Amino acid sequence: MPNPRKVVIVGAGLSGLVAGRELLDAGLDVCVLDKGRSVGGRLATRRIGDARLDHGAQFFTVRTPAFRRRVDDWLERGIVAVWNHGFDDDDGHPRYVGATGMNSIAKDLAVGLDVETSTLAFGVRPMEGVDAPHRWEVVIDDGTTRPADAVIFTCPLVQTFALLADIGVWKSGDEATDAAHDAIVERHGIHLDQQLFRTQYDRTIALLATVDGPTAIGAAGGVQHGDDVFSFIGDNQAKGISEAPAITFHANAEWSEAHWDDDSADTLAALEAAAQPWLGSAAIVERQLKTWRFATPRTIWPDPCWSTADGTIVVAGDAFAGPKVEGAHNSGLAAAHSLLA
Ligand SMILES: Cc1cc2nc3c(=O)[nH]c(=O)nc-3n(C[C@H](O)[C@H](O)[C@H](O)COP(=O)(O)OP(=O)(O)OC[C@H]3O[C@@H](n4cnc5c(N)ncnc54)[C@H](O)[C@@H]3O)c2cc1C
Repeated sequence: MPNPRKVVIVGAGLSGLVAGRELLDAGLDVCVLDKGRSVGGRLATRRIGDARLDHGAQFFTVRTPAFRRRVDDWLERGIVAVWNHGFDDDDGHPRYVGATGMNSIAKDLAVGLDVETSTLAFGVRPMEGVDAPHRWEVVIDDGTTRPADAVIFTCPLVQTFALLADIGVWKSGDEATDAAHDAIVERHGIHLDQQLFRTQYDRTIALLATVDGPTAIGAAGGVQHGDDVFSFIGDNQAKGISEAPAITFHANAEWSEAHWDDDSADTLAALEAAAQPWLGSAAIVERQLKTWRFATPRTIWPDPCWSTADGTIVVAGDAFAGPKVEGAHNSGLAAAHSLLA
């Protein structure tokens, strides 16, 4: 495939934004779409009164040279800061945070990019006709389309699968169906890898609470796997992003799965009860629940992104290079480079 001129990226989370920046810097015409009201996806920060709380990713570490280069740039420009060097002991490895919340990283990446928020991609279809100026068009839920020579999908994989289902082809075992599918493959060159799109995700239920004073969380400001309910407890004030005391409690995957369908008032009450030992003498002032249906991919694909044979459909995100901030970054980078090769 010659280098594409026009690329549409579905998803303005970290991987989509990183891919977008890389392609924009290479001189391509890039448009990023996100169904959310703002950019960031799981890099999410929310205000409750005077408090600011991260309710998706809490912090990140750096292991690879590509991410190191990016983080050094963010540090230099004050986009990120070091929170600490370990929650239990000082292990010498910095834990980084967005200087004004994790979402500030996404906002910085989005500067200068053409990003359309509140824009739900509904599907993708080939642009018909020999004179068609582009290869694909991404269909939006309002019926409009965005033309593209290549499309990068960065949603959680089951959502990407739904978007590709109309043009995707896999063997069903039924002769007539398979023959029809083969005809589409021949025309559009799309083979979906079933194993990839069957990736399961753990869920997370979060309790966001503003409190009226110091808690029992401790000087490090965070607790990992502190008990059998919470996988992480983060003090947003100790972290340096909130003026007012505010705590994020993430229920672990097992607890979140078991309580996913409970009434939200019951879930809130159960999480508040579980949070008590960590609050010390502080009382909760305001509380909110946030649920993440696709919080963490359970299996990680061995390659940093996946492409169709002709390279014009690329799938990326944290299910590829690792279920973390660094993995999402590196997968977005790989997706962009696959189009520039
Ligand atoms: C509760 C929680 C805690 C975490 N804690 C940490 C942590 O401490 N450290 C760490 O390193 N990582 C952590 N992570 C993981 C980290 O947040 C993710 O790995 C990373 O942010 C994923 O980025 P992404 O771009 O791959 O996906 P996402 O951020 O999910 O981006 C995908 C985007 O696609 C959009 N989208 C989906 N479907 C459509 C559609 N049809 N049309 C348009 N847009 C669409 C979504 O709105 C979303 O913005 C945590 C995640 C969660 C949920």
